[in-house]
Amino acid sequence: MRIVRFERQGVTGYGRLEGKAIVPLRDRPWERVMTVGEAVPLEEVRLLAPSEPSKIVAVGRNYRAHAAELGNEVPAWPIIFLKPPTAVIGPEEAIVYPSASKNVHHEAELAVVIGRRCRHVHPEDVPSYVWGYTCANDVTARDLQRLDEQWTRSKSFDTFCPLGPWIDTELNPADASVVCRVNGLVRQSGRTGDMVFGVSALVAFISEVMTLEPGDVILTGTPEGVGPLARGDVVEVEIEGVGVLRNRVV
Ligand code: ZN
Repeated sequence: MRIVRFERQGVTGYGRLEGKAIVPLRDRPWERVMTVGEAVPLEEVRLLAPSEPSKIVAVGRNYRAHAAELGNEVPAWPIIFLKPPTAVIGPEEAIVYPSASKNVHHEAELAVVIGRRCRHVHPEDVPSYVWGYTCANDVTARDLQRLDEQWTRSKSFDTFCPLGPWIDTELNPADASVVCRVNGLVRQSGRTGDMVFGVSALVAFISEVMTLEPGDVILTGTPEGVGPLARGDVVEVEIEGVGVLRNRVV
């Protein structure tokens, strides 16, 4: 099943994607999947970020080759940080290049969407708490990340967390390809099977720290090949089995 959030004639809601149409849902999808009303053609709606997370928990240095390309060791435990919900944008929305940075990078990532409140969850129980998966771009002001010891500023500018285009509830996250293209050229090409810590280990680890709420999003780290974006670029994140998230930089 694929779940979208959309806006049509000023009204927003969730829907189930069926081919080129969207069937509206009555509730938030993790509460109940009950369709309501007529199907709407996909081209008549604007897709929004497919979740409205209370928080986005991101994981640093979770692919060996990416840790190495920035001169870092692979950590012995997941290195986590937060991105604010105000950074979230949807498919086709613009990433705004902040004047404070001269080196904004793309980071293509598999995003996990939580479906049930969880705390102290065991790794083997994690699949029953995951609602589905979407594509994310953990946009990062690399120069500010190096300048500050904390990552908050470099990771938190408005528009620095594109999510979408929809949530796929059937993806097997064990070994999907993660690709980033800029203006059609491949910049990153990795596989989730190369993560240092997999989805179950990450969700379990994070749930030892904080309560995860339905709709919360976990960014699972980026493969090697991160690099600069420029104003006017079109950046795409494609996760095999999910789809393509496309945004322009302005
Ligand atoms: Zn990242």
